[in-house]
Amino acid sequence: MIFKSIQSSLIAIVVSVVCIATVVIVSVAINEHESAFAMSSEKGVTGITRALGEQLQEQPISASRQQTLINNFSLYPNIIYAGYLTSNQAESKAIAVSLQYVSRFEKTTIAKAKESIVPFIQNPQAGSYYTDDFLITVSNVTQDANIEDVSAWIVVVSDIRRAMRETRINLLFHLMPYIAVITLFFLILTILLVNRLIRPLLTLCEFTKQVEQTGNYSLRVEQQGSEELLVLQHNINQLMSTISAELSKNQKNTKALMVQQETMTKLANYDSLTGLPNRQFVMDNLKLELTRAKRSEQNIALLFFDLDGFKNINDSLGHETGDKLLIAVAQRVQDVLREGDLVARLGGDEFLIVPDKSTNLNDVDSIDLAKRLLAAFDKPFAVDTIDLQVGLSIGIANADEVDFDLSELIGNADIAMYRSKANGRGTYTVFRPEMSGDNKRKLALSNCMLNAIESGDFAAVYQSKLNAFGNVTGFEALLRWHHPELGAISPDEFIPIAEQGGKIHALTAWIFRQVFSDVAALLAMTREDIKVSINLSAHDLHNQDLYPYIVQLFKEYKVKPKNIEFEVTESALLESFEVSDKFFKKVSLLGCSIALDDFGTGYSSLSYLTQIRVDKLKIDKQFILHLDTSERSRLVTRTIIDLAKRLDLETCAEGVENQFQQNYLLNYGCNEFQGFFYGKPMPLADLQMASLTWAEKFNLQDQPT
Ligand code: C2E
Ligand code: CA
Ligand code: CA
Repeated sequence: MIFKSIQSSLIAIVVSVVCIATVVIVSVAINEHESAFAMSSEKGVTGITRALGEQLQEQPISASRQQTLINNFSLYPNIIYAGYLTSNQAESKAIAVSLQYVSRFEKTTIAKAKESIVPFIQNPQAGSYYTDDFLITVSNVTQDANIEDVSAWIVVVSDIRRAMRETRINLLFHLMPYIAVITLFFLILTILLVNRLIRPLLTLCEFTKQVEQTGNYSLRVEQQGSEELLVLQHNINQLMSTISAELSKNQKNTKALMVQQETMTKLANYDSLTGLPNRQFVMDNLKLELTRAKRSEQNIALLFFDLDGFKNINDSLGHETGDKLLIAVAQRVQDVLREGDLVARLGGDEFLIVPDKSTNLNDVDSIDLAKRLLAAFDKPFAVDTIDLQVGLSIGIANADEVDFDLSELIGNADIAMYRSKANGRGTYTVFRPEMSGDNKRKLALSNCMLNAIESGDFAAVYQSKLNAFGNVTGFEALLRWHHPELGAISPDEFIPIAEQGGKIHALTAWIFRQVFSDVAALLAMTREDIKVSINLSAHDLHNQDLYPYIVQLFKEYKVKPKNIEFEVTESALLESFEVSDKFFKKVSLLGCSIALDDFGTGYSSLSYLTQIRVDKLKIDKQFILHLDTSERSRLVTRTIIDLAKRLDLETCAEGVENQFQQNYLLNYGCNEFQGFFYGKPMPLADLQMASLTWAEKFNLQDQPT
């Protein structure tokens, strides 16, 4: 417990050392004192006995005088007993006590003393002897050399132990104040010293606690104390500076990210021209609404409309007038709607209305709304002092007819709207199943897809990607289907059919094998470090067999993973985030790269970008295509490039069609360029020829400054 804190341990150690030293010094002192005392006692007794011996042997001397003399021993309180031993050689050889002094010590002590001298009576030898309890001093006091036969000794028994005990106590008693003063002195000195050494450490502890409680990393600890502590305090301050710098950098970045996210969300969800919700927003909303409606067995009706003759107005009066008209239309539609109805601009002159749920129960309500809309457009729009008369063609579709499927619902509304146009415009049509001949084609395509793979109707084409210097950085592989009767079918049409009909895995497997077998030729034509990109559908990410298949292809075709890139659309990623994350990690470990395709169209939050393993963002072509006409597209493009830089990701712009778009992107630091401006996707065999013109597009004066 004591050794838990440095302070108490140090004090305990010093106090123990001082105590041990004191005990040692005191015991040495006592020893020395005792031996000095014993020596002086011996000398003292010897001196006394000599003097007494002389007096006792003066002649003549009476017996009573002798007794008086020997009784003088009573002056020495330590002497218990004394015996005067004489031997008369002439009469007998025996030595006997001829005279004795007996003190007032206890009888038992005296008896013991007497007993202890018995050996000396028999054989007296001058000297001092210590028994357990006594000091026995034997002195030969024979004086007269002439009296040869007579020898005399005095044996004195002193109580040396008691005397010593007394002097020891005396000594201790005298030493005590000194010991106390010295111990106290050392104790105070230690406490002061330890406090002085420890205080900076305690201050440091306090400091770290304060930092922890306040989270304030701008605090600094005061520099004080010993050299080691100064170094420690300096290092801690340095650490605090680093943390605080990193923190403010992080905060700045987070703030920028949040602002960007807000901008992107706004851009993503609202149409910048009319301020209405856009396609993204209404589709997301509708998806949720449809799920809810299905659960509660409520119908949802959609009104889909576009403006009759809008293209003519745009072409003849210019985009600016067209834009103003769209703003006015948006305003007038909103005036017709009731609270809770939602209107969105899907793009161009296409709008979608989702009537409020509470009124959205039957055809009568939606037809009523359509009629009110049509009536509202009877009045012309005043734009730039011109009165413009535009009409509406409305299509209405019900969710319960398509089992609440979003894309089918929109598709039906679209078909109904075209029926309105065909019927002479300025009218509405409610969708009826017999209106769609579409499903037949879908079914036919789905049914012959696997055969088409077998018979070689599919082909891979490659579109080049270039860096800011016009050098090839890679190719994107794109699927083509040439149907013997129906002709070329766009991947935008057959990929969703393949996904829905469970044929996508076969298509993916086919294009993978094709690409892997073409990689060597593509590298030979360009450089060793280019990347060939393959598109993956959301369904592919769920295919357990895909990863082992890729690994096998790498072995089979001896392709290096660094030459392969996977393109996954942002919406596919968000649809199945965890599965994608797992797949991305695995292929990144192999050494392949990952690009997020169609970036900017599918997100609701950007925070996922910091959680997932991606290398590149492909800015969706809808933004690039409108760089020259739409401020919103410019803003989105700039924001994506800036965001990518912050997150240390590459950017690729797809759909670059002209010089203006290229220059704009170059200026903002986009890394990769892809689009018809450089070349359309083409078969491997045509690439060599086309490659001659790619770099030409990048003139030196276009290079970013
Ligand atoms: P994506 O991955 O976004 O591919 C780019 C599309 O933009 C391609 O259409 C390409 O021909 C087109 N494009 C390239 N440059 C320009 C340009 O400058 N202007 C314009 N307007 N368009 C340009 P494509 O080949 O019709 O492919 C359409 C979509 O089909 C692809 O979009 C991709 O999502 C999907 N797809 C094509 N091949 C595959 C494939 O092998 N697997 C999967 N899962 N999907 C594929
Ligand atoms: Ca792509
Ligand atoms: Ca794309």
